[in-house]
Amino acid sequence: MFRLRRASRCTAVIFLAAALPAILPAQQHITSPKEFFGHDIGADYMLPNYTKLHEYFIKVSKESDRVKLDTIGLTSEGRPQIMAIVTSPANMKHLARYKEISRKLALADGVDSVEAHKLAKEGKMVFWIDGGLHATEVLGAQQLIEIFWQLSSFTDDETKRILDDCIILVVHANPDGMEQVSDWYMKEPDKLKRTFSTIPRLYNKYAGHDDNRDSFMNALQETTNMSRQMFIEWHPQIMYNHHQTGPTGTIMAAPPYRDPANYNFHPAIITGLDLVGAALNHRFVLENKPGLTFRAGSNYSTWWNGGLRTTAYFHNMIGILTETIGSPTPMRVSLVPDRQLRSAGLPLPVAPQEWHFRQSIDYSVTSNRALLDLASKYREQFLMDRWRMGTDAILAGMHDNWTISPKRVAAMTAQIEKDRTATASPENAGGRRGGTRATTGSSVANDRYMALLKKPEDRDARAYIIPSTQPDFPTAQSLCRRSRSPVCKCSARRRRSRQTARRIPPTHG
Ligand SMILES: [Zn+2]
Repeated sequence: MFRLRRASRCTAVIFLAAALPAILPAQQHITSPKEFFGHDIGADYMLPNYTKLHEYFIKVSKESDRVKLDTIGLTSEGRPQIMAIVTSPANMKHLARYKEISRKLALADGVDSVEAHKLAKEGKMVFWIDGGLHATEVLGAQQLIEIFWQLSSFTDDETKRILDDCIILVVHANPDGMEQVSDWYMKEPDKLKRTFSTIPRLYNKYAGHDDNRDSFMNALQETTNMSRQMFIEWHPQIMYNHHQTGPTGTIMAAPPYRDPANYNFHPAIITGLDLVGAALNHRFVLENKPGLTFRAGSNYSTWWNGGLRTTAYFHNMIGILTETIGSPTPMRVSLVPDRQLRSAGLPLPVAPQEWHFRQSIDYSVTSNRALLDLASKYREQFLMDRWRMGTDAILAGMHDNWTISPKRVAAMTAQIEKDRTATASPENAGGRRGGTRATTGSSVANDRYMALLKKPEDRDARAYIIPSTQPDFPTAQSLCRRSRSPVCKCSARRRRSRQTARRIPPTHG
């Protein structure tokens, strides 16, 4: 009996040892936000700062084989600005290859359709999620912690599929601001007295709220760090820029955006926004999360060409902005009578109610997941779309093109009206006596009017010439470097601008 019992134990130990490698990954423990911070993300009156967020990201990156934590540069106040790369362990082994595929398809240079299809089949969707850009919009940075944890640890089918198909870049947009705003809010021991309203200084050292007006010139350290990842390193196909707050009487302003549509970039950006916007709004309705509004329901359009989201459009990225309500101090959803009625831009109105921060976190998770789900399902399509837009941009540079603006349409309309008036004048009364009648129904007239939209002198520029003889040549050099101009022939210019270069030392060799 004794011998038998010993033998059984021995067998059990051997069995467990053999099974251990298979069991371990499923049992791998990833520290949850509640374990680390002592409360759930979005708990009432609680707001972790950047130092704690950074510590948490480091901890999870050591625990999860789905995470690689990068520092993309320093902030204006010298903090490390982090970007977590989250994907499946299998993808993690080939990050360099996937980055290269993303770059090749985005730039499209020398990549024909056959190669593009091969690359798109092999490649992974690169999906950017940032948070915290506007630091008093505290939801952005807090939701980043939640989605980072979920993607790093959840084992449901959707999460695993997303991780197989996507490389997700989880980026903190303004660490200094989060540190300042969270510390300010939490400094008051009485939670009922916690507030953002008295914050004494800008939440970006130099630009405050205008840190989202810098992406076209990269004057701020934080913008430069992010632009490098977006436009030189990773070339994400979709970028998602979280903001706060939603229009009164709703919870979230979402894509697609209202008119006027920006006519300065590829039209597939506009239709791409329709595509991702539909997926996002549809998921909210099916999860019975009311209060999303889009198109004419909010102020946001595809204009303002210098923001983090909108600059991405000029690089053929689908850029998402959402504006969501929420505060760690519980608040109320206001009553706006018109917004109790369903409309094309508000399919599921929300009733006035008390609103807790955790609900805003849940909304952010749903929106992230809606887009990641779509990115996963249409991975190859999004990669091919990016190549198509890049190819079209290259082709556009080989031919004459005209960007049709309201000003040019107004000029054409004025000409049509002028011709109509002339046709209707007394000397023309009783019938046409020569000349072409100004009717837009006539193909001859239409050709003439369309020609007004395409005057040779109004063609889009194919290149810009920056004269080397200008007085402030070092600044011109700086511009060329920032635009990564391929025609930056420094030696010739240096010769011609020797005198200027002696007065102001050049900023690079
Ligand atoms: Zn904002």
